[in-house]
Amino acid sequence: MTNKPLVVGLTGGIGSGKTKVSDALAKLGAQVLDADVLAHELCSPNGAAIPAIRQEFGPQAIAADGSMDRNHIRKLVFDKPELRLALEKILHPLIRQRIVDEIQISTSPYCVLVIPLLAEKGGWGHLTDVVVVVDCETRTQIERVKARNGWPDSQIEQVLAAQATREQRLKIADFVVKNNGTSEELLLQAQALHEKLLLIAAEAKE
Ligand code: ATP
Repeated sequence: MTNKPLVVGLTGGIGSGKTKVSDALAKLGAQVLDADVLAHELCSPNGAAIPAIRQEFGPQAIAADGSMDRNHIRKLVFDKPELRLALEKILHPLIRQRIVDEIQISTSPYCVLVIPLLAEKGGWGHLTDVVVVVDCETRTQIERVKARNGWPDSQIEQVLAAQATREQRLKIADFVVKNNGTSEELLLQAQALHEKLLLIAAEAKE
């Protein structure tokens, strides 16, 4: 018998529908921890990552309100992988620690970790018991991101090219949510997924 919740890694490419699925699971009662949201908190005014960012990138990396100056950092790391890596080295251990702490005190039957780059970046895998991949046709991803962000195709294609392929991602999936249809169809799948995860969580507790 264990009190640790089942840990579900949720991933998918840009605009695949991760947020829609994690929002639906949260509404059904699951605890959701989103790596991007945690990173944002760590870089907000007085966030835990701010001292290390100031030390690594200098005072000009910190905005007047005490948060990380996102525009400055975005430009700085744009074509410098070593600087991007330096930022990740600051953020990843802090994100991981937050996740581990939250899982430890969680009373939810299962916790969802939304990790956009689960298939790309090593190191998250051993935190998760089950991996869910949200998948949709690439052209649908492009259409949805275009509608949401107003980006040109070239910018979206650039992001897609830097991410794992759909095939690579599907290889690590225990469950796949196919998001080629309507929002209603997606919600029905999220409901079915929730029920499966509750069953797995209950079995794991026995
Ligand atoms: P990102 O990684 O880029 O943040 P995401 O994987 O979290 O994206 P969402 O934000 O959930 O994806 O979805 C991307 C966009 O597509 C949103 O504007 C969302 O409302 C829309 N969308 C997602 N699924 C559907 C659907 N089945 N029908 C219509 N619109 C959808």
